[in-house]
Amino acid sequence: MTVAVNWSAVDHVLLDMDGTVLDLAFDNHFWRELVPQRYGEQKGISCEQAWRELEPQFHRWRGRLEWYCLDFWSELTRLDLAALKTEIRHRIRPLEGSEDFLRAVKARGCALWLVTNAHRNSWSLKLEQTGLGPWFDRVVCSHDFDAPKEDVDFWARLQAQHPFNPARTLLVDDSLPVLQAARDHGVDQLVAIRRPDSTAPAQTVAGLPSVDVLADLLPVPPRS
Ligand SMILES: [Mg+2]
Repeated sequence: MTVAVNWSAVDHVLLDMDGTVLDLAFDNHFWRELVPQRYGEQKGISCEQAWRELEPQFHRWRGRLEWYCLDFWSELTRLDLAALKTEIRHRIRPLEGSEDFLRAVKARGCALWLVTNAHRNSWSLKLEQTGLGPWFDRVVCSHDFDAPKEDVDFWARLQAQHPFNPARTLLVDDSLPVLQAARDHGVDQLVAIRRPDSTAPAQTVAGLPSVDVLADLLPVPPRS
């Protein structure tokens, strides 16, 4: 399925970070391999046992603000997760073609915002590591709005603080609950990412326009 963005009706481009601009392979490695490994080492249990203890917690908190809070997980696991992320920062990478897309959006003159659920420690490390920070006019972190992007209240609070016209906004995200919440708020153009993790199979997306990666939305036509 090809996705046609109506660029003449876009003033703001809002992009998710993990799994949209950046390769989710980093986060999947971190949470599914490294954290259980270090948690197991600390408790003197196997990786498999560690995963059995952690997975119900992951499941319980997914999609809530706590899920995205590194302090919360550091306390729960008794691990310094910010330090652990820094330790493997060399694995942080953009998805293929992401920077070409950012460049094209800026060349068109659209406002470009990064809108993330990631904790500040995490997004600042990732932007520093990839050098992508300067492309964005604004970085919006849902922790500053007391609601995750999956909550329609987040979008209302964001618009109240940083005005944008939802009817002239494009949002790209790999999370379907996030896209649905934005749609409920009136964001007009929504695109889902099918391959947030370059090392994993594509996810199935029903009911929304979708592309494998951001670069599939190229070319962005210059403003006439
Ligand atoms: Mg994401």
